[in-house]
Amino acid sequence: MPLLKRITRLFGDGGDSADGSATGREAVGRKSVGPSHVCQSCGKEYFENPSMNIRTCGNCGGVKVERV
Ligand SMILES: [Zn+2]
Repeated sequence: MPLLKRITRLFGDGGDSADGSATGREAVGRKSVGPSHVCQSCGKEYFENPSMNIRTCGNCGGVKVERV
């Protein structure tokens, strides 16, 4: 069964190494970017869509949640 063998190899070595490096890089990149919004009153960090507008802070109720 040549087809099954190829699929197994894809999931085995090829898929494993490709998945590891790809997800690792993405996680590091996201971390270095930091939060999308920060509350100027209490310092709470929000990790939301940067295009999203947060009007009030869910932590302190402040209205100074600014995009970073
Ligand atoms: Zn706040």
